[in-house]
Parts: sequence; structure tokens; C-alpha cells
Amino acid sequence: MNPDPRRAVPRTDALLAEPPIAAAVDRLGRDLVRATLHDVQQRVRTGDLDPDDAVAAAVAGLPGSAGSLRPVLNATGVLVHTNLGRAPLSAAAVQAMTAASGTTDVELDLGTGRRGPRGEGAIGALLAAVPAAETAIVVNNCAAALALVATALGGELVIARGELVEIGDGFRIPELLTSTGARLREVGTTNRASVADYRAALGPDTGAVLKVHPSNFVVRGFTRSVEVAELAPVLAGTGVPLVADVGSGLLRPHPLLPDEPDLQTTLADGADLVVCSGDKLLGGPQAGLLLGRVELVQRLRRHPLYRALRVDKTTLAALEATLRGPTPPVPQMLAADVAGLRARAERLADRLVASGVAAAAVSSTARIGGGGAPEFPLPSAAVALPAAYAAALRAGSHPVVGHVADGSTLLDLRSVLPQDDDALAAAVLETADRLAAPSRHAAVPRR
Ligand SMILES: *Cc1c(COP(=O)(O)O)cnc(C)c1O
Repeated sequence: MNPDPRRAVPRTDALLAEPPIAAAVDRLGRDLVRATLHDVQQRVRTGDLDPDDAVAAAVAGLPGSAGSLRPVLNATGVLVHTNLGRAPLSAAAVQAMTAASGTTDVELDLGTGRRGPRGEGAIGALLAAVPAAETAIVVNNCAAALALVATALGGELVIARGELVEIGDGFRIPELLTSTGARLREVGTTNRASVADYRAALGPDTGAVLKVHPSNFVVRGFTRSVEVAELAPVLAGTGVPLVADVGSGLLRPHPLLPDEPDLQTTLADGADLVVCSGDKLLGGPQAGLLLGRVELVQRLRRHPLYRALRVDKTTLAALEATLRGPTPPVPQMLAADVAGLRARAERLADRLVASGVAAAAVSSTARIGGGGAPEFPLPSAAVALPAAYAAALRAGSHPVVGHVADGSTLLDLRSVLPQDDDALAAAVLETADRLAAPSRHAAVPRR
């Protein structure tokens, strides 16, 4: 090593002229590359790094992309994890998004050269999947769908007290509804509402009757709620629309989730409009879907607020491919059988044990999450590691989020796709190395 490393600090322009670094400038832009070069120069200056290794260190320290969001392996066992971006998209959806990400015919009829209807492909896919719907529109998320409904139908919204739900992170549906200027006409009590309660609440100011699926809790005991099928005949002929927020976006009944409402059944039962999220059990991009009667959906589409809530071309592309393409990850994870999960856990544990990691395959319980089927445990299998792995795995080059239970870090495989098992094993082995020699591999802060 040079006796005084400070003299040998490579110059920024010399480093930028190195081919792998010049290529990184094309990929990442000059500012991000310069920031990495400055870190490397600092390490040479302090004698931490040999100047001959500066180029290699810079290449290794470059961020993977110009964005700061990083891919994370979700081994929490929570299939729809809001903090981890909810549903992972299918490869088909990613491909469709990429194809639509440049200039695209989202609102142009290539045959006539004139303006065409926006998002026709995604709407067509929704209607094919939910035949009870006459038409549909897509907005930013389910909260946006509710805001549009409350704004456009407004006046007084009739809603059961037991359905004044907080979804998570302080998001309360009643507050969203009243923020639009709509008034709530609450019916029933926390645990009970009857058809008579709804009937008595209807009046000249009623804009809509709203049913909200309490997706993240259950009320047990002396309870009574009025289902869409009972409510629809009460409203027939009144002109008051029945709107149902089914939350998680099941298209049809799911054999594993008998208590989770679905779009097709809710419409067939008599709802005039159903709304749901695109990125929960449907397994697609963040979106709010509104499906139902033509005249009602048209009224929403023509409201000025719709323009502020409508989705981007890439969302439309991903949604269409989610609906038309192969089964997306979330429904796949939901359907995975526990014996297959157990076999994967054992294979992974064997591999890790062979490399000296204290790993074991164990039984676990996964959940749907994201405010869906709150009490529904999904039998699963996990790789158990010592507790110290939890934080170390999050700090790795490919972060893994597991969960700590009974003094172990559990990596639940129901929320990991089988094709990611190799990446999971690699992340654990890298972490094991770091835990074994913490100083040698001191984490370099990444941007
Ligand atoms: C999750 C959920 C929402 C909110 O959906 P976003 O897409 O996050 O806006 C609204 N209503 C119900 C019943 C939900 O489960």
C-alpha cells in the first residue's frame, strides 16, 4: 500500500472515465454515481481502501437502480403486506406495464387515428371476470372509489354503525366519507342492524345506502347485520343506489374463504355498485375498482373528481394482465398446499444446515393480511433461524423480512414464491457470513 494513501486518492474524472463506471452513468445518471465515487474516495483518503481497489469498490457500491425502493423478500407469512407494497405483481403484469410505459395507445384508436376510450382493455377484462357487472371504472385505490361515490352520490349516506371501520394506519372510512361533504346517517348499533333500521333511515336526502365489509375484525355473539340480498328489495323502486365496499377484491367466491364477499355474488345479490381494491386478494396493482349499473357508473365517470382519481396507463396495463393472464402470486400463495410448503422448508433448512447455519423446518401459521379474512389462519411452513437473523436479514443486499416468534426468526414460505427460494437461501447465507464476521463486513450505507 502507498505510504500516504491521501496522495493517491483517485480523481473523480479519472474514475468516471473507467468503462464500468461510465456505463453506470448511462444507467443511473451522473449524480448517483458521483455520490458513490465520493464515498470511495473518502475511504481511500482515510486509508480504509487501497487506491488500486477504488474502481472495484465503486462498482460494488453503486445502487442497483436510480430509484431508492428496493426489492424485499416477504417471508412474514402475511400474503398482502401493506408495508411491503401489498400484492406482488405477476410476471405477465410486469411485462404489460413495461410495454405500456412508453408512449402507448391508452386513449387512441389506432384503426381510425382518433381518440378512443381510455382503459378499454382493462374494463373489458373486468367485465369478463365479473359478468354481473354492466360496466366498470378504475381509480387510484379503494379509498378513492369511496371518495368518488360519496362526492358524486353525496347527500346522506346510510350506513350501519357496525360498518364504520378503521382500515389501518388511522384510515377511517367514515372520516373519508364525511371529508367529501357527505353526511352519514348511521343505522343500528355497534352489534346489530335490521332491515327496519335501514328503512326508517331512508329519506329525501338519501344519496346511497352503503355496505362496508368489516374486513379486519369480526363481531361475535349477539349480532345481526343486513346482507345485500336482504337490502336490495327494500331499495327497489326507491331510486336509492345500494353500494357495497367488498374490500379485498375477490372476483368470485373462494372455497377457502367462505366469509369473504366477492364482486360477482354481491352484484348478483342486488348491489347496484361494488367497489374494491386491486392490490389485495385480486393480486394486481394498486387500484380502486368500481363495477355495476351503467347509469350509476356513468354518473361517477362524468363527475369532475373522477379526472383527479383516474389511473395511469401502466396501472391499466397491469390490471388487465392480472385479470387475463396466469394466476397472480397472491392467489397462488393462498392456494399453496401445506405439504408442498413443508417440503420447501425442509429443502431450504437442509441446504442452510449443510453450510453451517442453525436452521430448522417448522410448522407455522400464515395470514392473508391487508385487511382480509382477519381470523383465517393459513397453515404454513417456515425455516426457523436464531433470533439475531431478523434484523441482519433486513440489512442484507437483498433484504428479507421474516417475523420473530418464541425467540426464533421465522421465514414463512407461504408468502414467498417457490422461484424465490434460491434468492432466500442466498440472502440467509450472506447474512450468516456477516453475523460470523461483523467487522470485516461492516454494512456500507446504501442509498
Ligand atoms: C382495504 C380496504 C379499503 C381501502 O382500500 P385501499 O385500496 O387501500 O384504498 C377500503 N375498504 C375496505 C373494506 C377495505 O378492506
